[in-house]
Amino acid sequence: LEIKMLRNKSLIIYTRESTVDHERKMNIISALRESIKFTEQILVYYQPIYDAKTEQLVSAEALIRIDDLHLGFLKPDEFITLAEQTGLIMQLTQIMLAKVCRFIKQIPEENSPLSHIAMNLSSEDFESKVIGKTLLDIIEQEGVKPKRIGFEITESVVLQSYETVSEVMVELSLKKIAFALDDFGTGYSNLRALIDLPYDYVKLDKSVIHAAMAKPSMLLLLTEMLQKMGKCVIAEGVETKEQLSMVRSAGIERVQGYYFSKPLEEEVFRDLILQAK
Ligand code: C2E
Ligand code: MG
Ligand code: MG
Ligand code: MG
Repeated sequence: LEIKMLRNKSLIIYTRESTVDHERKMNIISALRESIKFTEQILVYYQPIYDAKTEQLVSAEALIRIDDLHLGFLKPDEFITLAEQTGLIMQLTQIMLAKVCRFIKQIPEENSPLSHIAMNLSSEDFESKVIGKTLLDIIEQEGVKPKRIGFEITESVVLQSYETVSEVMVELSLKKIAFALDDFGTGYSNLRALIDLPYDYVKLDKSVIHAAMAKPSMLLLLTEMLQKMGKCVIAEGVETKEQLSMVRSAGIERVQGYYFSKPLEEEVFRDLILQAK
């Protein structure tokens, strides 16, 4: 609650959130609950990831959307935090993983140009001590080779749940599941995590890519450092030709961004894979 007195001595009282915001939140939480019951309301979009040099399709990131009867199409920025706060995220993660597995199964491995498809995990997923086993069980039940799946974890998640993240990564890496450090450079950059944990990929956040336009030599140094640590570097948020050529000059291996493609509906992405093979 915040109270402000105006010059005319009238009082204005602000509550932290307006009724409209509050109502919207409540509606989103209902939509989340619905979508967990009726999982066809959970849509997986796939954003292609390309080889920076050859411009060939090499991978993709699975991104959640919710198509609600009343609220329409919802993007993660509107509901992930709420899903975390209400404890619903773990169920969303499991539904997403099963859907991604079913998608991958439709693409015969020998015909696939994809190293793997990655999906995002949240800090709340690591509240469960058995998260590693839960994820592996789903992959096994769906009958997908673990190496065809990857997980992206942001630096802030690593910082919040270092021990569990570290255990899960070690356990799942043994099965050849790929891990990416997501949104690298957004303010939590943790060298210990980079040195200690078995990440295969580091995804440079779009803000890093955009900022580096003014100092491309820094991007080169950063990329060289990461590569010397054995990481494959992915540039996120590449939107322009200029950014692509900078990313290429820096020696970055993989690129994701609107310059190549937005996140695509499942069917559209499937067609793209079939063309690419
Ligand atoms: P993220 O994991 O860093 O995913 C990349 C986000 O950047 C996506 O937004 C993507 O659409 C957007 N993007 C891609 N290329 C460009 C570009 O060139 N320019 C700009 N400006 N943006 C670009 P999206 O799909 O809205 O997802 C936002 C965030 O929500 C994700 O960031 C991730 O942290 C979270 N998220 C998405 N799906 C899931 C999920 O299934 N589970 C969890 N826990 N989090 C998810
Ligand atoms: Mg991600
Ligand atoms: Mg990211
Ligand atoms: Mg992000």
